[in-house]
Amino acid sequence: MIIDCHGHYTTAPKEIEAYRQKQIAELKESPGSRSKGTISISDDQIRESIDKAQLKLQRERGTDVTIFSPRAAGMGHHIGDATTSLHWSQVCNDLIHRVCTLFPQNFVGVCQLPQTPGVPPANCIPELERCVKEYGFIGCNLNPDPSGGYWKDPPLTDKWWYPIYEKLVELDVPAMIHVSMSCNPNFHTTGGHYINGDTTAFMQLITGDLFKDFPGLKFIIPHGGGAVPYHWGRYRGIAQDLKKPLLKDHLLNNVFFDTCVYHQPGIDLLFKVIPADNILFASEMVGAVRGIDPETGNYYDDTKRYVEALALSPENRQKVFEGNARRVYSRLKNKIPAGR
Ligand SMILES: [Zn+2]
Repeated sequence: MIIDCHGHYTTAPKEIEAYRQKQIAELKESPGSRSKGTISISDDQIRESIDKAQLKLQRERGTDVTIFSPRAAGMGHHIGDATTSLHWSQVCNDLIHRVCTLFPQNFVGVCQLPQTPGVPPANCIPELERCVKEYGFIGCNLNPDPSGGYWKDPPLTDKWWYPIYEKLVELDVPAMIHVSMSCNPNFHTTGGHYINGDTTAFMQLITGDLFKDFPGLKFIIPHGGGAVPYHWGRYRGIAQDLKKPLLKDHLLNNVFFDTCVYHQPGIDLLFKVIPADNILFASEMVGAVRGIDPETGNYYDDTKRYVEALALSPENRQKVFEGNARRVYSRLKNKIPAGR
């Protein structure tokens, strides 16, 4: 079985965007008003939006299950206040739940959290619990920078984040560390801000001792870990200067990377540097890069090809395509039994 641990509902019916635009307009017009409002999307609309995009690509590319979450750039945690973020997150998570209910063999849900800059992340616990306990979601996306490119909240190792970590451990669900859109014109969202977010999160984890406090906490750093694998020597050296343990002991029991690296040399490097136990197959389709690579004639985000081109042992290949995802997302077995 091939499990893609990183997919977003980027092809959702246009009503969801209309809802968001209305919500934003209402913020400006009547800041005191906080009605959640309603959204009307039929099952047929959802089926069509999935059938012609994510499901079609699963079939064409030969993957089986996608761990599926709301559009990451659309989380927009910087917009409005905590109530805005809660309503928006609930609407987005409800839609993911509907996709997973309509296509239970192909999609398993991961939630967006109702984060807001300057508001303690403990605020997100009820929505996390709702999604895991009521919807059977198996993880969440945690935004290390809800300000959208200005990094105003404390680093991930700060006690600011501890209540949400306690809940993640209690529920036994991992978090993918995933920023949303960039509001800072210096950082392109998917080309700059995403990769910054991944790299910065890893560096924050090096300087702290988070996993001493939370040995059961699991993070997935997407997009191949940002710049981390390429600069592994730098990070090992900085950890050494800081008198931290070896990175494999300091972080690699808890931190995992995905394969959303869109060329063969990048994947080759990832697997050369990072142990196979810490790599989860993913494509992030339909997402950041949608074109065809003229050098290969294949889609950039057809990442299965790159992994298949590696000289992996059958054991490591199984780990990367399925076993590691099952280990990290331990609730996955409730949705997709092993050996299906
Ligand atoms: Zn993503």
